[in-house]
Amino acid sequence: MLTANPIEMKFLASHERSCDIIVEPGLIGQLGEYLTSYFSTKSKLFLVCDETVARLYLQDALNSLQKKGYTVTPYVVPVGEESKSLHQAQDLYTAAMNAGLGRNDVMLALGGGVVGDLTGFCASTYCRGITVIQIPTTLLAQVDSSIGGKTGVNVGSIKNSVGTFHQPKAILIDPLALNTLSEQERRAGMGEIIKYALIEHSCLNDVFNPEQPESLWELLKSEVNQHGLNAATKPEILHRCALLKASVVCRDEFETSGLRIFLNLGHTFGHAYESLSHYEILHGEAVALGILKAVQLTEILQQAPKTLEVELKTLFNQLGLTPVFETMPPYDAQALLKAMQLDKKNQYGSIRLILPTPELGVVEARTDIDESLILRVLQQKL
Ligand code: NAD
Ligand code: MG
Repeated sequence: MLTANPIEMKFLASHERSCDIIVEPGLIGQLGEYLTSYFSTKSKLFLVCDETVARLYLQDALNSLQKKGYTVTPYVVPVGEESKSLHQAQDLYTAAMNAGLGRNDVMLALGGGVVGDLTGFCASTYCRGITVIQIPTTLLAQVDSSIGGKTGVNVGSIKNSVGTFHQPKAILIDPLALNTLSEQERRAGMGEIIKYALIEHSCLNDVFNPEQPESLWELLKSEVNQHGLNAATKPEILHRCALLKASVVCRDEFETSGLRIFLNLGHTFGHAYESLSHYEILHGEAVALGILKAVQLTEILQQAPKTLEVELKTLFNQLGLTPVFETMPPYDAQALLKAMQLDKKNQYGSIRLILPTPELGVVEARTDIDESLILRVLQQKL
């Protein structure tokens, strides 16, 4: 292994399967070296990316793979959510067949969550399932969507309506790829990172509980204070977020034990804002706002960690999130509540919320919150 600190995921459901997560600056330019520790150069590679990522990183990746002797077929899809479709999947299968891809060959997903979900879905169904490697290049994909094995495409307007669970063999994260990412995409990824910092202790267990000198929340605050949005590219932060998701996913791979629900902090509120804005605000931005709402609700319930709301708002200022929220139209609180009532993570008709507890980093799932209190925080300004 080229890296000193790989995260090794072993799945509780089946110890025969494992997945490495490697965080290494410059990894894309050394992809060939990394892959030789998993596959012989006889394996054919089918590399999927979108047009933007193709322009920025495809040549580097190809050079490195070909230098090691791999045969690689690149497959480039249009940028955007529309590529997560059955139509695109069918085109991809055909291209893979034309490239002679067989059961022992490998698909590589180089890109954001769109390419990751599409490629994962195709890999899990092509020849009844072949190996996939995730090489995430957006912040959201590096800390979230590439980890956990969920794949999917959209059918009509319903997002992720068709999908599978298919764990990648490895998740190879190059923090340097984030340097070319737009500010908005980085801000959105930060929403998920803030989430990890506030659920940290609920995610760890005996296996994934390394001695950390400081909490992720403290680390995040200090890095953002010094570097603003650039804090996102710090390998230690990416590594720690990946570790938290890995820890949860290994123990609740198929979302059956209830652990994976903690990853939903800020999401029920967030989905409502996302949907009312007609996806004008990005998912991670909506999640950040949703986290603030969860914290404000916890304050009404008198169980919020002291100063959390103030610290959160300071982070929003430093990350440039505050203007995003201040320029949003004033959504009707009743309409937001209605959207929350439709959230697919709800249970037996009750809104299910993940809320902070007085202990920072520990959260709880609640279905007993009076909707009038939820409405109150939805009416509250930032
Ligand atoms: P995306 O894949 O569309 O990427 C966002 C934009 O960034 C695109 O325009 C892309 O071309 C560009 N880009 C990617 N890498 C870049 C780089 N290094 N430099 C410059 N530009 C770059 O979107 P996303 O936010 O990464 O992912 C969103 C998708 O992820 C959604 O479809 C969502 O459903 C899915 N998702 C899946 C999971 C899961 O568990 N599978 C979890 C969360 C989200
Ligand atoms: Mg999310």
